[in-house]
This record gives sequence, structure tokens and C-alpha cells, in this order.
Amino acid sequence: MKKNETMLDHALANFDRAAALLAAEFSPGLLGKLRQPKERTELRLSPQLTDGAIHSYTAFIVKHNDAVGPCKGGIRMALDVTLDDVTALAMEMTWKCALIGVPFGGGKSGIVAAPGQLNAEDKEVLVRSFARNAQRHIHPLVYVPAPDMGTSETEMGYIKDTISHSMGYATTQGSYVTGKPVILGGIPGRREATGRGVAVVAAEALGQLGGEMRGAKVIVQGFGNVGSVAAAVMAEMGACVVGLSDEHAALYAPGGLDVPALLAHVKQTGKLTDGPSGTAVAHAELLEMPCDVLAPCATANQITVANAERIQARVIAEGANGPTTPEADAILHKKGIFVLPDILCNAGGVFVSYLEYTQEAQQEQMTGAEVRARLERRMRERFQLVYETAQQRRWPMRDAAMYLGVRNVCAALVARGALP
Ligand code: NAD
Repeated sequence: MKKNETMLDHALANFDRAAALLAAEFSPGLLGKLRQPKERTELRLSPQLTDGAIHSYTAFIVKHNDAVGPCKGGIRMALDVTLDDVTALAMEMTWKCALIGVPFGGGKSGIVAAPGQLNAEDKEVLVRSFARNAQRHIHPLVYVPAPDMGTSETEMGYIKDTISHSMGYATTQGSYVTGKPVILGGIPGRREATGRGVAVVAAEALGQLGGEMRGAKVIVQGFGNVGSVAAAVMAEMGACVVGLSDEHAALYAPGGLDVPALLAHVKQTGKLTDGPSGTAVAHAELLEMPCDVLAPCATANQITVANAERIQARVIAEGANGPTTPEADAILHKKGIFVLPDILCNAGGVFVSYLEYTQEAQQEQMTGAEVRARLERRMRERFQLVYETAQQRRWPMRDAAMYLGVRNVCAALVARGALP
């Protein structure tokens, strides 16, 4: 990664490659329109926290494109999140929704705060302050948030409550937010959806390489919402999870880690440090250990020119958004590593968010088994579509996924016709 390169530089580089592949099908003006977000908003939040003082926080909302439908994308709470990061993530959501086949556009929010440094009460006040200030942007037909790094179903419950109270109703009509607790209109299996989807497409990729998940050696970076579920589901599928990390520790065991015991340990202590299974290794070292599946499920820019040559995985399953830089991607491609790009690999979350959105509109309740079956079927179908396109055109999987996603958005723009 070059100095000062941002997530937005990488998202634009990925888009420019796709735009070049689509140049024969769509005009430069139409493709150029997708390079820019539709709207970027910066909010100032001034919540009164439990210390009695009024604090000041910055938040961002980016609506990248709504040609296919209302903007969809999670709320990231992190101290280092920037407006450009949120723009990059919103842009990726546009392609992801179009690729996985849900009628949403791309959006994203960011709250500049360290979730680990806020107590539960202060986090609730901050999230409610975000919901109040962002309310004119949040609507089932405009922008529908969901959890992302640093937020979870708990915060989505607070957002729904804040908005319904402000309207004077007990609830909202339609989904203003997805990833809510089931008791508040959420859907069973939403929390697990992204990680489960990662495991499903990783198994498909291994199958195409003549292998299988049973007995495969797996390393997962990140042990939060996405990584912990991806690791647990791959272990259930018979994989041997040899490496796991969170921001505090990286653990390795050549014979396999005890994933359920580590989950229980993290539930109790909040970190993998001193977990009951495995040996502590350096974070950087873990990514370079030999394995069948390496699943980066933490944050962006983890596989870069600095380590790509030393990666020894057969499959990289991008649970995180943007974990591989474009330069590293080229190196992985040359090495023959099968990369499952983020817009395909982690799209299970937004697919199940769509099921939540439809169930709320129809005032029905789906069962966990129905959700899981639909999720697995959709992930396999879209994997197959991207894989066949990549094979036919001799493209890397990322190019094929981006081509299909961006093409669908262009088709929606054409179908809508010109609006001044
Ligand atoms: P989370 O906050 O629940 O978990 C993040 C995990 O990564 C934590 O265990 C944290 O300790 C760990 N981590 C952070 N930096 C690390 C580092 N340098 N090395 C190792 N571990 C590190 O977040 P999440 O919801 O699991 O999201 C993870 C990634 O997946 C993000 O890139 C997010 O955008 C993406 N994603 C999430 C969803 C979703 O449904 N939550 C959907 C699609 C994509």
C-alpha cells in the first residue's frame, strides 16, 4: 500500500477497472456518474453523557447511489472512521446489493467514537443522539442502516425506538433499520448471516479447487460479529480452525483451536487474550501461515504489498470490507490464490437484511430455518454466477463480481431514463 492511500482510493481503483470492462456497454457519462456519491452529510452530535457533561461527536452519512432502490448500509463506530472511508463503504454497498440481487442501493454511516471506551449507557445515549440527528435521512424508502463494526443489534433496537418515539408511535411502519433484535421486528439469523455466508462461499471455492471444507485448515482474522460466526460455521462444516485473532491477540494451534471454548472466553472477558486454546503468535505472522482458507474478517487493508507475497492460503474469503489492496490483489492473482471478493463473500448480511425488510413490510415472521435456507441458496447461486463469468472471460473473481454488480446498477440507471 502506498503512503496516504485510503479506502476510497482502493474503492475507486476497483470501480475504474469495472468501468473499463463496461466501457463497450455504457457511456462514459453514465459510468462517470457512479464514481461520485449522490450525497455526503456530516453531522455534529452533542449528547449529554453519564458524567453530566455535553460531549461532541462527528458522524457521517453517505448515500452513494439509489438507482436500484433505497440506500442500504451499516453504521460503523470507530475512532478512525473518516468521511472518505464511509464514502468507499457506501460505494461498495451499491455494487454488493446489485450483485446479490436485492432492490437496494448503497449507503453507509460512520460515528467517530471508540466503542470500547464508552460504557453501555453512554453508547446508548450516543446512538440515540445519532438517530435523532440523522432522522431526516433514515426512512424505508431513503436509507436503511444496519450494524457494522462497533455496532450490533442492540444499537439497531435503540435507533428503532428513538425514531418511533419521535413519531409518537409504538413502532415504525416498515423497516427504518435492519439487524434489530427479533422481538422488535428483527429476523432470526441476521446476526449470523454475514459469517455464515462467508463459510458457504468459502466451501464453494474449495469445491471448485477440488477440495472440501471437511478437514480444511482455516485461519480467521477478526473474532467479532462476522469472524466469530464464520469460524464457528466452518468448524461445524468439519474444518480445522488453526488460527484466530482479534485486535488484542492472535492464536494458533496446528491441530485445531477449540472455537466454542474461545467463543465462551470472549463472551466472558471481551478478548481472545489468554484464551483456553492455542498459542499466542504475532498478528502479522498469523496471516502468513499455510492454510486452505484465510478469512480476513476484521478491517480494511490487511493484505497489502508488504505481505501479499508471503500469503500461503489457497482461498482468501473476504469477510471484511476492503481487506485486500488493489496492488496486493494483483500479487495474489499471480500466485494463483482464489480470492472471494468482499462484495460477494460478505453479502449474506445484506441479503438477510432484505428478508427482514420484506417481512416487516408484510408483517410476517420468518423462521430461522427459512432464513438460513434462503441465505445459503442465494450465496451459492451468486457464487456460481460470478465463478462462471470469471471462467468464461478469464478474469479474476473480483473483476467478475464488480462487472456484474456495476452492470446491474448501470442497467437500473438506463431503465430509469434521464432525470435532469
Ligand atoms: P465487529 O466490531 O463485530 O468485529 C471486528 C473484529 O475485528 C473484533 O474482533 C476486533 O477485535 C477485530 N479486529 C480489529 N482490528 C483487528 C486487527 N488488526 N487484527 C485482528 N483483529 C482485529 O465487526 P464486524 O461486524 O464483525 O465487521 C467486521 C468486518 O466485516 C468489517 O470490515 C465490516 O465492514 C465487515 N462486514 C460486516 C457485516 C456485518 O453484518 N456485521 C456485513 C458485511 C461486512
